[in-house]
Amino acid sequence: MATRYLNLLDYSEITGSAPIALRSHGWRAKCLQRLVRLDLPVPRTIALSFNAVRAIAAGQVPDLGGLVARFEPGQLLSVRPSAENPDWGGPGAILNIGMNDDLHARISESHGEDVATALYLAFVQSYAQHVARLDPDMFPVSEPCLPALQAALYDYEKEMEEPFPQDPGKQLAEVLRSMARAWEGTSARLLRQAKGAPADAGLGLIVQAMAGGFGATESGAGVIQFIDPVTGVPQITGRYAERGQDGDAISNNPQAMYLTRDPRGPSLEDRHPDAFAELVRHGGICREKLREEMQIEFTVVNGKLTVLDALKVRRASRAAVRVAVSLAEDGIITRKEALMRVTPRALSELLHRQVDPRGARAVVARGMAASPGAATGRLVFTSTAAQASASRGEKCILVRRETSPEDIRGMHAAAGVLTERGGMTSHAAVIGRGLGVPCIVGATGLRIDLKARQLHTGRAVLNEGDLITIDGTVGEVLLGEAEFLEPATDQWFNTLLEWADALRDIDVRANADTPADARIARDFKAKGIGLCRTEHMFFEDDRLTVMREMIFAGSAQDRAEALTRLLPMQRSDFIELFSIMHGLPVCIRLFDPPLHEFLPHTREGLKQLADALDRPLSEVTRRAEDLAEFNPMLGLRGVRLGVTVPEIYEMQARAIFEATIETGRRGEKVVPEIMIPLVSAMREVELVKARIDAVAAAVRVEKGQPFEYRLGVMVETPRAALRAAEIAQHADFMSFGTNDLTQMTYGLSRDDAGRFMSYYVQAGVFPEDPFHVLDTDGVGELLLIAAERGRKTRKGLTLSICGEHGGSPESIAFCRDAGFDYVSCSPFRVPVARLAAAQLTI
Ligand code: PEP
Ligand code: MG
Repeated sequence: MATRYLNLLDYSEITGSAPIALRSHGWRAKCLQRLVRLDLPVPRTIALSFNAVRAIAAGQVPDLGGLVARFEPGQLLSVRPSAENPDWGGPGAILNIGMNDDLHARISESHGEDVATALYLAFVQSYAQHVARLDPDMFPVSEPCLPALQAALYDYEKEMEEPFPQDPGKQLAEVLRSMARAWEGTSARLLRQAKGAPADAGLGLIVQAMAGGFGATESGAGVIQFIDPVTGVPQITGRYAERGQDGDAISNNPQAMYLTRDPRGPSLEDRHPDAFAELVRHGGICREKLREEMQIEFTVVNGKLTVLDALKVRRASRAAVRVAVSLAEDGIITRKEALMRVTPRALSELLHRQVDPRGARAVVARGMAASPGAATGRLVFTSTAAQASASRGEKCILVRRETSPEDIRGMHAAAGVLTERGGMTSHAAVIGRGLGVPCIVGATGLRIDLKARQLHTGRAVLNEGDLITIDGTVGEVLLGEAEFLEPATDQWFNTLLEWADALRDIDVRANADTPADARIARDFKAKGIGLCRTEHMFFEDDRLTVMREMIFAGSAQDRAEALTRLLPMQRSDFIELFSIMHGLPVCIRLFDPPLHEFLPHTREGLKQLADALDRPLSEVTRRAEDLAEFNPMLGLRGVRLGVTVPEIYEMQARAIFEATIETGRRGEKVVPEIMIPLVSAMREVELVKARIDAVAAAVRVEKGQPFEYRLGVMVETPRAALRAAEIAQHADFMSFGTNDLTQMTYGLSRDDAGRFMSYYVQAGVFPEDPFHVLDTDGVGELLLIAAERGRKTRKGLTLSICGEHGGSPESIAFCRDAGFDYVSCSPFRVPVARLAAAQLTI
């Protein structure tokens, strides 16, 4: 078969005018061309296109005569990868191509044998490992000396049964071939596809003249960047190593020196002030013209600067925000571009303490990242221990199999929460996010030994009182204490979000149950409260007892008596919420959970309740058993309680109306929104509406004060979605509770799905956890049906989403397309939602 040679047109020298495109030559080629166009001192560089590299991988032999001829004879070359996206990786760079016996002799003469030997040995070692694919153990990194070089050449020849290639053209051809094939390998392919690369992603290769000074003291190599990559603060960071060859090679070099003048030791600025000044100037030019903060790789030879390469500074989220805003403020990019440069999810990292990425991480367990942020504390296994720890002023991490409403005080007291069970909408996850407490759920490898007060993680056995760190942002449990970065809701963050608000066309409200939540919602500039889960107001100590008395009431009169005591507590809650929200809309959901959630579940708890109620333990236990249901999430809860025990909703409605009047008296007009949960039939809404209207009429007469309110429903059963047309006759608004709606559409328990969800997602049964990312196909179709049918009946029907999906960028896009008025999410996700909503308009 005739050998097919590579077409000369498939490689091009990078000049100001050569046709170099990202999609054909990769990011590095594109970037180098920009540097050339900016007149930066880039050495001669040739870029091979994706097509050329594909052809080489497929076995075509590149005719490199023309290519090599473009470089000076005796010029050492480097080859580096250039994929379309730097995150997709690529084979490591190979340096010093062209080293051979002849050059070794010449460099020995001009620069000394040590220098020549070091260069040749480094090349033989890397060629043997990465090109000839010989066992790395045969070519260990060693002190460069002539015997070591001779041994390496001998070993190469013995293994390969041929001498080490001396022809620079052949060396280069083999380097290109091995790099092209490495890119096609299965593991490299899987790795880049996991980072979003398409199956047919191409690789370009960059052949560049090396600008090393072969070890003269006045030469070296380094990297420089002009911001702190974690904070984004403008500052010169990087390293420079004398006699260094390449920026990568100095990253672990103990002799590397500082860049700017430093009392701790010598610096580039001292040694080569002109080159340093030139670098700083180039950095400014790159920022302005490449419209990015770049890291520059350079060499200095006899005081003369050469720029080898430049790439976007890899940065933490807080740096990304600061850089984007500063570039826009300096007029280098537009505000819209700045908004697009920050991923919405990255913002949530700025709202909480984070484990400092610069420190070490001893991971002992992993689970779902249910509530972002990080905290260190002593391990405790019960809510009582968490409260005791908090009262001693000691931070603790509460570890439970799963949490229940009884744990709410323990969760309040804990710095972080870790559960063995549960998914993204389990109790621990929802409360953790609501409280802003870092939380990991579904850490299935854990074994909690309550007797021994130990936690077995599979990698470690931890005792109560041991220090651990929870990183709820990534779902990792770390041994011991960690270094933290404090939240960064600073001027850069606020500026970016102000720009976002000026653009977005869908409102963002917060799910806020308590005054503390509401304050956070206000601080994050939510446009109101989209969901206030009132049951959470009853878990305070004194209220829980009254609540339990109400549940245990033997007669309507006893129940009315308990509710009368709850009324002022609820009223003051609402007055506080209304005043914090300063006239912004507040949507209050009437009582939702099954009553038995308020009952103690342990014998000790039942005994305490019997004491408080002054009733026999047997009676209290029997009543608790009576209230137990086989399937409480589908049982007597939500509007079903409202229909069968109407006094609870009546008390809540009265508290809301009295709070409205009181807040009005204080000068703030409020139009409360009252939301009925778990509706599935129009008649339920009619019945509850009639009672609430009656309470409103009574309060107006009693107080002699007019007020308005809006009544709406939560759509969280499939039937409510399907019957939206008739339900909308009695509703001013519909808010989609996608947690329950997902649960009921799939017939999948939101509290148990976490156990097998990762298996389902890995096996491709579900593309994502539907409790985490809205299932736009199934649940989404119900949303669209309900929206269309509801709005057909009632033109101005307000539509929104308040399930946990409300804060995710994908769901926001869906809701915006469907013409929703707002999304509502936990307070800490409000900034994420504001940015995501703005990006949809760009
Ligand atoms: C829902 O079901 O989506 C919802 C917001 O209500 P909860 O999570 O309280 O059931
Ligand atoms: Mg619900």
